[in-house]
Amino acid sequence: MKVLLIGSGGREHALADKLASSPILETLYCAPGNPGMAELGECVVMKVTDHKAIIDFCRINAINLVVVGPEAPLVDGLTDTLNAANIPVFGPSAAAAQLEGSKRFTKELCDRMDIPTARYAVFSNAPKAKKHIRQHGAPVVIKADGLAAGKGVTVATTLDQAMNAIDDCFEGAHGAAGAEVVIEECLIGEEASFFCICDGETALPLTSAQDHKRVGDGDTGPNTGGMGAYSPASILTDQLASDVMKRIIEPTMRGMAEAGTPFTGILYAGLMLTDDGPKLIEYNVRFGDPECQVIMPRLKDDLLLLMKAAIDGLLDQMSARWHDQAAATVVMCAPGYPISPEKGSVIRNIERAGNIGAVTIYHAGTAWRGEDLVANGGRVLNVTATGRTVTDAVERAYEAIREIDWPDGFYRKDIGWREIQREKS
Ligand code: ATP
Repeated sequence: MKVLLIGSGGREHALADKLASSPILETLYCAPGNPGMAELGECVVMKVTDHKAIIDFCRINAINLVVVGPEAPLVDGLTDTLNAANIPVFGPSAAAAQLEGSKRFTKELCDRMDIPTARYAVFSNAPKAKKHIRQHGAPVVIKADGLAAGKGVTVATTLDQAMNAIDDCFEGAHGAAGAEVVIEECLIGEEASFFCICDGETALPLTSAQDHKRVGDGDTGPNTGGMGAYSPASILTDQLASDVMKRIIEPTMRGMAEAGTPFTGILYAGLMLTDDGPKLIEYNVRFGDPECQVIMPRLKDDLLLLMKAAIDGLLDQMSARWHDQAAATVVMCAPGYPISPEKGSVIRNIERAGNIGAVTIYHAGTAWRGEDLVANGGRVLNVTATGRTVTDAVERAYEAIREIDWPDGFYRKDIGWREIQREKS
């Protein structure tokens, strides 16, 4: 098959790596890709917002499947445009991508299908939103309705923080995404991510992971796109995972089909494991980044066959099997991330680090400047390792990092700490 993979982050490098191992892959194109992906396929200079350019490219190159990595093109309707042009694509329609694109949409689905989630209310002006908060008190969670790149959510522990978050939203801090605000009950528990691949009717469970959103060790400092992850997350036991399938994922699939917006693609449930059982915090409609980087190395089966089965509606005949090994990834960032990452510092010795057994280095914000590999974004490298346990995988990833010569780069030193504690006890 000739595949066009859309995206340029660590997630897409991990997808490219897995797709490249498929016996049915003939050619892999990446748009726009990154220096790591360029070793696996042909990178194509293309604006992913230019749907016509993508269609033209697919026609000229006889592409059999387009795989969309990030959420923005999905919410933007790339799947619909490609389907209308008879080009097979793995990823949900814009209508189904509302599961990620509108928090209100997901909450209303939860209401209809009786899916466990935080209690909530939606407001389109500040005075009413503030009145609601004064009545219910803190802690409380304030969310811009639309996509805000992880910056639209405030978990407010005081009324003042909550009021400021409301003002920010309605004063345009998140642009159009903040035109409506969802106010939620604050859930208490440990978070875990759970992934399924879906064909509109069947959701085939994949696996679990946990990420680390805060920039600093001990979960301190501002939120980021994700500083590291590991998989599986043992806190999501088989029993809990089957609960999540029955009470959250399957009703979602039914609800979406009933609404005429069946879901095809990767469904990523952000869960809070509360004393009352798992509750849905949010949906994403694609793999997480960096979670994808720890899921792909564990997947035994052919990702391309699974994706093909998803678009052909045949997932009920498939299974997804996993290596016994755990995986961990540590994200190396440019100085200044997440506020204002500095570009241009030179990175050396990543081949040496990548040659350590069971280590793979996925690129994200890297670029070539002449002979030098340089930082070209906030999150730059994903140093990923597998091991018998999460503890082993994490140790190996840090061993690889010590080989990398990038004095300006920084990373968290405590990736996987929860799981490592569990493995010790
Ligand atoms: P954005 O829309 O800005 O891209 P997001 O989709 O990442 O953000 P959520 O996943 O809904 O937003 O929330 C981000 C984080 O806020 C969660 O990972 C969780 O830690 C916390 N959070 C969200 N909702 C709740 C809740 N109801 N109770 C407790 N914590 C919450």
